[in-house]
Amino acid sequence: MSQEPTGLLFVISGPGGVGKDTVIEKLLQANPNLHYSVSFTTRPKRDYEVDGKHYTFVDEERFRNLIARGELLEHATVNGYLYGTSRTRVEKAQKQGQDVILKIDVQGAETVRKKRPDAIFIFIQPPSMEELMKRRRKRGAEPPEVMRERQKLAEREMSFASFYDYVVVNENADQAARDIAAIIEAEKRRRRVQPEPTP
Ligand code: 5GP
Repeated sequence: MSQEPTGLLFVISGPGGVGKDTVIEKLLQANPNLHYSVSFTTRPKRDYEVDGKHYTFVDEERFRNLIARGELLEHATVNGYLYGTSRTRVEKAQKQGQDVILKIDVQGAETVRKKRPDAIFIFIQPPSMEELMKRRRKRGAEPPEVMRERQKLAEREMSFASFYDYVVVNENADQAARDIAAIIEAEKRRRRVQPEPTP
C-alpha cells in the first residue's frame, strides 16, 4: 500500500530574546522546502512586521471565532495577548510534502505534544541567563520591573527545555540554524514505525 509523502512537523520554542526569529529566518532562507506556519495573534503589529508574513493580526473577537470553529491546533496567552496556530495551514503544507516549522511558546508546545505526538520538539537556549538578559537590554530599554518579570518568565520557560527532543544553544545564529537543519535532515531519515506487512 503506497502512502502519500507528508512533511514533518517541527515545533521550536525558547525564551523571549533568545533570537528565535533570526535563527528561523536563516533556517528558512537556506531550506526552501520548509514551510513556516504563520500564527494568528491579537498583539498589535510592530512597525517592521508585515501582516500575513510575521503573523496574521486579528482582533479578539475574530480570535475567539477561530477557537470556536476549531481552526486552532493550539492557542495560548503570552504577555497578555492571544497567539494561535492555524490547523488548516499546517495540514495543507504537510499534505503538499513540506516540513512545517511552528514557533510557539512552551504552553502551546504542550498542547501540540498531546494532539500531534508525531511532532518533533526543538528548544533554543541562550548560552547563559546573563547572556539572555544582555541581549534583551541591547534590544531596547525596558523598565527594571518589566525586565524582572521577563527574567522570571524566561527562567520558567527554560525549565521546560528537558521536555524537548533537542536543545540547540544559540551562541551564534548561523550555527544554530545549521544545527536545526541537521536535526531536520536526521529526522527525515529516521525509520518510522510502519504497519506490519501482510504476508
Ligand atoms: P512575539 O510577540 O515576540 O512575536 O512572540 C511572543 C511569544 O509568542 C514567543 O515566545 C512566541 O514563540 C510565541 N508565539 C508566537 N506564535 C505563537 C502561536 O501560534 N502559539 C503559541 N502558543 N505561541 C506563539
